[in-house]
Amino acid sequence: MNEIKTVLIVGSGIGGATAAYALRRIGVDVHCIDIKTETPLVGSGICLLHNALRAMGTLSLAEQCLDSGYRFDAFRQFDAAGHLLCSNSAPPSCGIRRPELARIVETAAAGAGAIFDRGVTVDRLVNRPEGVDVYFSNGRQATYDLVVAADGVYSPIRQQIFGGHYNPAFAGQSVWRFNTVRPVEVDGFCLFRTQTGKTVGSFPTGQNSCYIFYSENSKDPLRIPESEAHLMIRERLLEFTAPALVASLEQVTKPRQVIFRPLDITLVPAPWHRERVVLLGDAAHAPTPHMTSGGGMAIEDAVVLAECITSTQSANAALELYSNRRFERCKIIYGASLQLCRNEQQDPIGNRENSAALLLKTYQYLGETA
Ligand SMILES: Cc1cc2nc3c(=O)[nH]c(=O)nc-3n(C[C@H](O)[C@H](O)[C@H](O)COP(=O)(O)OP(=O)(O)OC[C@H]3O[C@@H](n4cnc5c(N)ncnc54)[C@H](O)[C@@H]3O)c2cc1C
Repeated sequence: MNEIKTVLIVGSGIGGATAAYALRRIGVDVHCIDIKTETPLVGSGICLLHNALRAMGTLSLAEQCLDSGYRFDAFRQFDAAGHLLCSNSAPPSCGIRRPELARIVETAAAGAGAIFDRGVTVDRLVNRPEGVDVYFSNGRQATYDLVVAADGVYSPIRQQIFGGHYNPAFAGQSVWRFNTVRPVEVDGFCLFRTQTGKTVGSFPTGQNSCYIFYSENSKDPLRIPESEAHLMIRERLLEFTAPALVASLEQVTKPRQVIFRPLDITLVPAPWHRERVVLLGDAAHAPTPHMTSGGGMAIEDAVVLAECITSTQSANAALELYSNRRFERCKIIYGASLQLCRNEQQDPIGNRENSAALLLKTYQYLGETA
């Protein structure tokens, strides 16, 4: 048995909740906290690519995702009026609403005995070679064999343990997103392209629902008045006359339906641990979303971390193995995602073929085991 028997996971997002389940399955005591008081009930969609589904399959959760979401295997490109330009086959993927994914993973982890505490964070931790003393915001104190920082791209734990070297940087794009009723045309990963270089993407998240996103370039991060987001997205997408998009936009009537977010990215070099604190998911590697892979990478991290802990006796050896197995793969996805993002900024029309080829090639790479 490995030295790691008790784990605190900070952050119960996709990566943290999946790690909670993967670690419970190998018999580790898991305590998972999140600063948010509730699991978000609203939220956009997420695409679980074939590698993410494979990782979910090792936890026996893939079928539940597919039942709740929508399975697709096509990559289609349309013009702004909705005429099909080309269609490629893509690896089997699943679009799903984020709250639904969170429900599936958290229910599995809690059912397996993971303890979830919400509205709690870490005030201070003392990281020692044989364990971590944690002082919580609710006044409690406890010691764990390992702390997993799954607290996202802005990770306060990373900041505390690794310093500010890996603070996220703005990638030159922001994303507008909303959920809507699925038009029949949206039966795969779909991109609608204008002749002026704008692209809107969409994929199904259920039989009757889909998710629409639009990326906007800017030198500095944009600041959007939240109350006007629904009007601003309509203005931006006026050039798109595809009936599927027009009908979808008509359903956007309230500002809170639209989620707007500047893309901040980071990649921490291996190793991802110091003593007994280890990074997982966006805290270690937050790519731009162009490969729809950040969440899938976090899920793979969780599965691999559990495998590394079962396959070695020493905590340090397990954590070294974890970074060694994960770093190059996450770097490749981070690099491909950033290249796609830059292609859209530098020459969105001239780069379209290159970008589609890079996307398909990287899908293939993702098919290789983690
Ligand atoms: C526009 C966009 C589209 C995307 N689309 C896809 C996609 O289609 N497919 C895909 O695979 N990925 C996608 N991603 C990436 C994906 O969302 C992330 O990679 C994924 O959410 C990372 O999971 P995580 O658990 O590491 O972090 P998060 O999901 O960010 O979770 C971090 C958790 O930590 C908690 N937390 C933060 N600070 C603290 C603290 N101090 N104390 C306690 N808890 C804390 C937060 O409340 C949160 O619950 C997309 C990203 C963006 C921005």
